Amino acid sequence: MKKRIAIFGSTGSIGTQALDVIASNPDKFEVEILTAHSNDKLLVQQAKKFNPNAVVIVNESKYAAVKEALASTDVKVFAGENALEEVAVFDTYDMMVAAIVGFAGLKSTLKAIESGKAIALANKETLVVAGDIVMQRAVEKRVPVIPVDSEHSAIFQCLIGETRNKIEKVVLTASGGPFLGKKPNFLVNVKKEHALQHPNWNMGAKISVDSATLMNKGLEMIEARWLFNLHPEQIQVIVHPQSIIHSMVQFEDGSIKAQMGLPDMKLPIQYALAFPVRIPNAFPRYDFSRSSSLHFEQPDIKTFRNLALAGEALHKGGNMPCVLNAANEIAVYGFLRNRIGFLDMMEMVERAMEKIPYIEKPSLEEYFESDAEARNFAASLIHI
Ligand code: NAD
Ligand code: MG
Repeated sequence: MKKRIAIFGSTGSIGTQALDVIASNPDKFEVEILTAHSNDKLLVQQAKKFNPNAVVIVNESKYAAVKEALASTDVKVFAGENALEEVAVFDTYDMMVAAIVGFAGLKSTLKAIESGKAIALANKETLVVAGDIVMQRAVEKRVPVIPVDSEHSAIFQCLIGETRNKIEKVVLTASGGPFLGKKPNFLVNVKKEHALQHPNWNMGAKISVDSATLMNKGLEMIEARWLFNLHPEQIQVIVHPQSIIHSMVQFEDGSIKAQMGLPDMKLPIQYALAFPVRIPNAFPRYDFSRSSSLHFEQPDIKTFRNLALAGEALHKGGNMPCVLNAANEIAVYGFLRNRIGFLDMMEMVERAMEKIPYIEKPSLEEYFESDAEARNFAASLIHI
């Protein structure tokens, strides 16, 4: 029996790599659903190649183009934001690859969980915003949430066979991004072109900027908290510029397990799709004979304040991670459109966290409200 896969966000960096993995393993996987925001041409191309049951184009102005291009096929075409939730509950697929970027991925992922689908989770913002509710529903529905994020995939892999053993702490590795070692006098002038040049990974625009500000690692601390049911004190971040060790788990006897490999997202994607099986592949291997050394250093949280702010949100809990995430999404949006500078992004997040009222145990509706409030507040700062 082939595993039937729905890729939400199929036209993105993770989505296209997930399709590469599926294309290499046609005996194991088939594509049931593909969704895209606006890239109708790529969505159509993917639909013609993989022949899914349904596609969604979120941007309704592209509906006619997609419908026409797929007229000679039996692919069902849906459009609009609500269609994501409609197709997420289809009973024709087994696993959702949650690869939409940002808060926009939350609702459809929750729907998939509620209808009993396994989740391969790339969309970390889903757990940052409402991790308590998402993981609780997954437990209630007995739905596996398998991380795609490389650090969390590493931790997940280190935990195999350790169900009875307590975690003392996890160590998330960070490449440090393109501005490792830089100080504010340099960062004040950097533009999106520089921020989008990541040394080790080729990713979507938003996560690339998040990696440059270290917000990505901050979001990942919160993601780890929910995925592995950790206390904030159990999560440490260390800079490891080579990105060979993808993360580590330290157990109660002091022993540390690490998962290693070349930085290539196809590996954690394939692992999540095929779990618990490892599929042989021809991806390049890490070669110890050609490597010099692996290096570690402390993150500079004074310069890259986003990491400290995320740590604060993690410790405070409640709606603070949601507020942090929403303000950051607006900040990154503003930066990518050259409306604000690099350091302004961190300023906006900090001010939103000061401004939006704290809620200790928000309902899902309250998370949505906090998200909207923080977005509006952050957007108002861009106009100043
Ligand atoms: P991307 O920008 O390359 O792709 C995003 C996808 O989501 C596209 O298919 C796009 O059409 C869709 N999308 C965007 N906005 C949408 C909206 N409002 N509604 C519906 N669909 C929308 O992003 P990416 O780099 O592939 O990242 C996707 C997610 O995976 C992010 O949460 C990111 O943090 C996470 N992630 C990515 C990587 C990576 O290497 N790219 C690694 C780890 C985690
Ligand atoms: Mg990561």
